[in-house]
Amino acid sequence: MWQAEVRVDLDAIRENVSRLRALTTAELMAVVKADGYGHGIVPAARAALDAGADWLGVCTLDEALALRAAGIDAPVLAWLLAPGLPLHTGVAADVDLGVASLPQLDETVEASRHAGRAARLHLKIDTGLSRGGATVADWPALLDAAAKAQADGLVEVVGVWSHFVYADLPGHPTIDRQLAVFHEGLAMVERAGLRPRYRHLANSAATLTRPDTHFDLVRPGLAVYGLSPVAGETYGLRPAMTARARVMLTKRIPAGTGVSYGHTYTTQGEANLAVVPLGYADGVPRHASNTGPVQLGGARRTIAGRVCMDQFMLDCGDDPVAAGDVATLFGDGSDGAPTADDWAEAAGTINYEIVTRFGSSRVPRVYD
Ligand code: PLP
Repeated sequence: MWQAEVRVDLDAIRENVSRLRALTTAELMAVVKADGYGHGIVPAARAALDAGADWLGVCTLDEALALRAAGIDAPVLAWLLAPGLPLHTGVAADVDLGVASLPQLDETVEASRHAGRAARLHLKIDTGLSRGGATVADWPALLDAAAKAQADGLVEVVGVWSHFVYADLPGHPTIDRQLAVFHEGLAMVERAGLRPRYRHLANSAATLTRPDTHFDLVRPGLAVYGLSPVAGETYGLRPAMTARARVMLTKRIPAGTGVSYGHTYTTQGEANLAVVPLGYADGVPRHASNTGPVQLGGARRTIAGRVCMDQFMLDCGDDPVAAGDVATLFGDGSDGAPTADDWAEAAGTINYEIVTRFGSSRVPRVYD
């Protein structure tokens, strides 16, 4: 008997990857960082590879090494690397490294020496996100240094890449501006005498909506898990995660009763109150107090009062509810239950945050 669970449908991940695969002739990197967006890094990676993903994308060196420790030998790129990490362990494990500055390049050169083989690098250019890439002003110096290190046999530059600011708003003017900067950056790469095999830019939204950004490799994350980056569009994707719990306790309470901390909710009439054993420690956003949607007993209800650390309450009116009944917070939407998108709206956040929070909480994750 289970109390609460996050179910992950690996067939949905496989279907989503096949769907993405069919949209492009480029290679496909399934982004499995953040524990596979909460779906489990290793099972998600395996399902994506089964369905034709060529690469796996992660942030941290530890995530990349976890994939290798699980016996996964597909190409892996890790791109969030603070100074002082044992990068030689990544080089030795055949992990490609994202590099965006001269100090980072120096560290990879050192890692190559330590590992006794040339690190495989993907040079990152900042085309407008102002995050982890070299600015256009710093780009020529980085390219020259990388070309020299490559000529000396110390590194191999296999990729050049960037990331979008706004690919979730098709038609947003920054998309074309970033694409133009990327092309400029690629011209400089050529002038520096580098011929990287992979140019990559597209996340899920761009993979789905902008074939002109696919280049040699696309990097979808969200869509792999069946969630849409674009509001109001599903692109035929199927959400892979379901979060549900069994009602722990029910009780009849009078009209005018305050519910949960701060009594921000008061019953209008006499009510059957259901106590559900999931709280913000499990991924339920506290911002979903009095707004979060839950399906219970065939009806969609709204959380009554504040979400607590480990539980929340539902006012079920006169509907018969019993301890043990299943409350579905979100799923693929096919049975009328809410979706992660509904939760994102209720909590004033994005669907990415909903699944990563639930999937990486103490709630047991089970696989279909
Ligand atoms: N590439 C990079 C560098 C990222 O940081 C991410 C995720 O944030 C992705 C690709 C995948 O983006 P999405 O989940 O929107 O497809």
